[in-house]
Amino acid sequence: MKNLLIVEDNRISGTLIRAKVSSVLDFNIHWAKSLAETIELLNTHNNNFFAALLDYVLPDAPDGQVIDEVVSRGISSIVFTATMTEKVRKDLWKKNIVDYVIKDDTQSIEYLTFLLSRLEKNQHIKVLVADDSRFFRVVLTKLLKVQNYQVLEAVDGEDALKIVESNPDIQLVITDYMMPNMDGFTLTKRLRKKYGREGIVILGVTSDRDKTMGAQFIKCGANDFIEKKSFIAEELYCRVNQNLENLESIQTIRKMATTDFLTGLYNRRHFYELATKLCASASRSKHDIACAMIDADHFKMINDNYGHAIGDKVLKHLAVILGQYFQRSSDLVGRMGGEEFCVLADNVKPQDAVTLFEELCRRVENTPFPLPEGGELKITVSMGVCTLVGEGLDQMLKKADELLYGAKHGGRNRVVVDTMTTA
Ligand code: GH3
Ligand code: MG
Ligand code: MG
Repeated sequence: MKNLLIVEDNRISGTLIRAKVSSVLDFNIHWAKSLAETIELLNTHNNNFFAALLDYVLPDAPDGQVIDEVVSRGISSIVFTATMTEKVRKDLWKKNIVDYVIKDDTQSIEYLTFLLSRLEKNQHIKVLVADDSRFFRVVLTKLLKVQNYQVLEAVDGEDALKIVESNPDIQLVITDYMMPNMDGFTLTKRLRKKYGREGIVILGVTSDRDKTMGAQFIKCGANDFIEKKSFIAEELYCRVNQNLENLESIQTIRKMATTDFLTGLYNRRHFYELATKLCASASRSKHDIACAMIDADHFKMINDNYGHAIGDKVLKHLAVILGQYFQRSSDLVGRMGGEEFCVLADNVKPQDAVTLFEELCRRVENTPFPLPEGGELKITVSMGVCTLVGEGLDQMLKKADELLYGAKHGGRNRVVVDTMTTA
């Protein structure tokens, strides 16, 4: 578990913060009540802290000296302070902090935990800074690293495109406008065309001379913009955080709309969408695909004997087996509803389909479900499998369904395959 440092001389406030943080996040919390205690803790733990929550005023460090001490040891620091004047604010941002929180604000503890969970998420987020000015790249990179982002740098638009291509997990691109080879507008358009709004956040960096540039960036597909000369760290962080939060919300909504809540497999509608595309491309390029309708045997009995909750777990167990068995990115596995699943496997020759699905059937049979109270439950499935070349999806699904019916009537725990080259 990661270490979290809290520095607070006030016992009530410290207790409150510690209780709140540990109720929502998993940290080993260490609490120091003075600068001296802080230094001792840092030394004992070899500076091994994920982050620090620091009180601005301490009895032995009245002017935020504890911040310099902790930040200089490379620890992401969030400051809480009771007094906030313009001078304190300016002072704080010079110290490379993550953010500050005003103490008596009722929302402050919520905001603290929000910042900490952001810091945890940010570790896994790749950000690309595209600017031909090395100076500005260094400034931005340093600021983003304080927030735990993984930062990559590009020297112009072309370079940025290449880097995004080889790092498809980049979630945020911050781009300058004026760059050699490819400018920021072109880069933004190209990125937006390739990665929709659910794929990547783009922030444009505008010059203070041209006030129309922000709007132009947004029209090219950027989510937001920052002004180059007059920007302040606090505003950059707000915009970056807010836009990434939006992206995460879009991705969550999309996931909910396309996957089945219980098993995480594609839901019927999304499976159908992807399967239609796969069938069309298979038909164009004349390669084989296999379609399997898979239904759990006597599932009602599992629910009746062990309860619906165990039934749900058995469905998840089946989904895991299916997901592990069909790992190629071109294979589609969906839950069609209830205890029925469908698989569309790309590039499976008719003569290989029997073995492929027979093996899956045996794997399900030989992977019993471990019952929570001990013992295990044997699960079996029946499958109808067809391989049709150049046929539409509806026909394949209909055929697979008929074959499944045959497998049930033939005694269950079996595969009935019908292969034909044309319908
Ligand atoms: P067969 O071998 O002929 O397929 O028999 P079966 O009992 O599996 O088929 P039947 O269609 O009679 O029953 C399916 C059961 O699956 C009934 C339904 O309550 C249960 N079921 C459907 N969806 C879920 C679910 O999400 N969770 C649980 N626990 N049960 C579900
Ligand atoms: Mg430039
Ligand atoms: Mg069934």
